[in-house]
Amino acid sequence: MIMQTKNGASFYQFPSFRKFSQIQHAVFTRHVGYSRGPFSSLNISVGIGDNEAHVRKNRRIISECIGRQSIVFANQVHGNHVLIIDDAYQDTDNSDNAPALVGDAMVTNLRQMALAIQVADCQAVMMYDPNRQVVANIHVGWRGSAQNIIARTVSVMHDRFGCHAGQLVAGVGPSLGPCCAEYVNYKTEIPQRYWAYKNESHHFDFWAISRSQLVEAGMRPENIFMSRMCTKCNSDIFFSYRGQGSTGRFAAVIGLR
Ligand SMILES: [Zn+2]
Repeated sequence: MIMQTKNGASFYQFPSFRKFSQIQHAVFTRHVGYSRGPFSSLNISVGIGDNEAHVRKNRRIISECIGRQSIVFANQVHGNHVLIIDDAYQDTDNSDNAPALVGDAMVTNLRQMALAIQVADCQAVMMYDPNRQVVANIHVGWRGSAQNIIARTVSVMHDRFGCHAGQLVAGVGPSLGPCCAEYVNYKTEIPQRYWAYKNESHHFDFWAISRSQLVEAGMRPENIFMSRMCTKCNSDIFFSYRGQGSTGRFAAVIGLR
């Protein structure tokens, strides 16, 4: 990924997304924010023990970095519900109230309405349809992988917005890598069809699972960009639940300009 800095904040971008002038996207690092202690410093999540005034100011930092767009945050619950952000959500306030939306994927064709996934080891999977001008952002933890929320999102994009999977581009952001994704209780947690992605020491390659799910949903392999950055191995750059326990969440954001 390509590192950028703006207004003091640092974020990464998928090289394959940068040629599209109609979108903006960013995967923010944990650096340069107001939060302290385990949330230091650019934590963008409420309800996890951080000072909410600090979170509000942190959300303002990321909004400034993406042209002061409104940013939609959902309450992520490791389910497979896909939220469609349409005119009914136009008045969603970007930060001052607890998130009223509940879901782990968001899709929109609205301009100036960025979709944020809150991350600390799970994957943010971003998608863009340059033909239909639709963006999606998906929170994919192991439960999301097991439920294949990626396929559900692609199907919602098709049914609601007429997107064709063969024309989508996707990026899989920094998240727990196969180096660190040990699941000792995998027999009860992870469906057997995904055990093929496990090595002998019970480490799963959830990056490969997401890539397979995107291809199975109809995407072209060459349109999928894998960041291959492990959050636990890079817990100085990103928040990592496995690395730190009590920790903040970093922001992965995509929106139409
Ligand atoms: Zn790792």
